[in-house]
Amino acid sequence: MIKITGLKVVLTYDLKILEDIVATRLNIEHSRIERISIAKRTVNARNKQDIYFDMTVVVCVSGDENEVISMNKDKFISKEIELNYTVPKDRKLKERPVVVGCGPAGMFAALILAQAGARPILLERGLDVDSRKRKVLKFWRTGILDTQTNVQFGEGGAGAFSDGKLKIGQKNPRKMKVLSELVQAGAPPEIMYLSKPHIGTDRLNETVKGIREQVIRLGGEVRFNATVKEILFKDAQVTGVRFEEEGNIAEVSTDNVVLAIGHSARDTFESLLNSGVYMEQKSFAVGVRVEHSQEMIDKIQYGDFAGRPELGAADYKMVVHLQNGRGVYTFCMCPGGTVVAATSEENGLTTNGMSEFARDGRNANTALLVTVEKEDFGSEHPLAGCAFQRRIEGAAFTAGGGGYKAPVQRLEDFLQKRKTTAFGDVLPTYLPGTEFAVLDSFLPEYITDSLRHGILEMGAWMPGFAYPDALLTGAETRSSSPVRITRGESLEAIGIKGLYPCGEGAGYSGGIISAAVDGVLCAEQILGS
Ligand SMILES: Cc1cc2nc3c(=O)[nH]c(=O)nc-3n(C[C@H](O)[C@H](O)[C@H](O)COP(=O)(O)OP(=O)(O)OC[C@H]3O[C@@H](n4cnc5c(N)ncnc54)[C@H](O)[C@@H]3O)c2cc1C
Repeated sequence: MIKITGLKVVLTYDLKILEDIVATRLNIEHSRIERISIAKRTVNARNKQDIYFDMTVVVCVSGDENEVISMNKDKFISKEIELNYTVPKDRKLKERPVVVGCGPAGMFAALILAQAGARPILLERGLDVDSRKRKVLKFWRTGILDTQTNVQFGEGGAGAFSDGKLKIGQKNPRKMKVLSELVQAGAPPEIMYLSKPHIGTDRLNETVKGIREQVIRLGGEVRFNATVKEILFKDAQVTGVRFEEEGNIAEVSTDNVVLAIGHSARDTFESLLNSGVYMEQKSFAVGVRVEHSQEMIDKIQYGDFAGRPELGAADYKMVVHLQNGRGVYTFCMCPGGTVVAATSEENGLTTNGMSEFARDGRNANTALLVTVEKEDFGSEHPLAGCAFQRRIEGAAFTAGGGGYKAPVQRLEDFLQKRKTTAFGDVLPTYLPGTEFAVLDSFLPEYITDSLRHGILEMGAWMPGFAYPDALLTGAETRSSSPVRITRGESLEAIGIKGLYPCGEGAGYSGGIISAAVDGVLCAEQILGS
């Protein structure tokens, strides 16, 4: 097959238009084109008078394709190299492997193990995705939190209530495997080729179920409401897992455990540390959520093309490096989305963002984060980063007046260090509600100072970003893991054979795709490939 990169394609393209472009580009008759598939599609909005798609396509032609390639002598035309993934064979493990945590990392570790015939047992502290959804909606409506099943915990992991945006980067066989499994399980097919794909929280829920069903069909076991309390080991080799299931303590014996517990399992970090698992502090970032009207962001990004259905809701991404040595950056942008209450602990408040697949909500939101370093934690203890997060979350909870209402401030008021007294034309989407508060009351000064500088610089880059009525809601504390469960070359925890710290909580990935790929890698290690 032939790959053509760098095609400029109108927003209103159809197959006929693509065929014309491809035939002209390859200098061949239309009749020789047997199939065209899109390998990558990016919106090119550099010139707002002429917005189009940058496309890479893969073409199947009749006759000698090598001849077509060499005839063209064009660096944008080459032979397509297929990125196929082969599931490793089960090397006949003595015992069934156990996977802890049913987020992207755990799900994909379990899926590969199941596909290899290793019949994994997956233990998840929270509930299945449908029951979880009910619990989370209740929390957002009433402020009644379940500390075992919430936005961080439960089937699907931390990303289940998200925009489901997928950061792909350079494609490779493992990423293609993850994407194709997601599609097979119910994700939109275009995630295979869009440069910035997203699944949306609504479609993610169905997708997660599809993966669970496959694991079970292949002989795996998925147990909800099963919180791992202790990893058992003897002579530096894993021997089993002790867990609490519906109030009862149970044990399962195994010599391989994938530990994919995410960045919010503070109780599990603590028990692992107490039992001698080596972990270290890791820097992360803290800040707030910013909300603008989506209509305004569309206008800024797409000019007169704003609102075109082919473009969807616009996004943006910015990074600035301040003179004080800190970075300020936008993160996890949710076009047409809502700001969500994302805590897993009582009396703490942390925000995040999510969108439905349609991204048709009235507001755009993004995290606006400032980098924090280990020196900011105020202690050498490996879990000092968790304590640092907890302090800010507690202060934000108090600033919101309790009941998980979030402190909120208009952007202009934040810049001028005064309390907001009334909303402007941007209204908050956060539930169960907001309370006017000064962000400086719960964030350290070096963070609010950095945010102020960052906002002004970003406003210069993207005129309109520093819109006076934009809203800042806080605190955004769980941007990534505050610890690393250090692993060696074999991906096992230092000094413990058979224990595979995996995904975001282990400090080795960030985001849905990289966590899922890390799950694939850990499964491969267990299978000995
Ligand atoms: C609201 C929100 C929106 C997000 N949006 C995006 C996005 O759009 N795109 C993106 O790429 N990323 C997004 N992220 C980040 C993304 O969700 C994470 O990077 C990803 O889920 C990490 O995967 P993981 O499997 O390593 O951990 P997690 O997804 O956190 O999964 C860990 C799982 O382990 C379980 N667990 C923890 N402790 C135990 C225990 N002791 N016993 C049993 N089970 C346990 C938890 O309940 C959880 O289900 C978002 C996160 C949040 C919270």
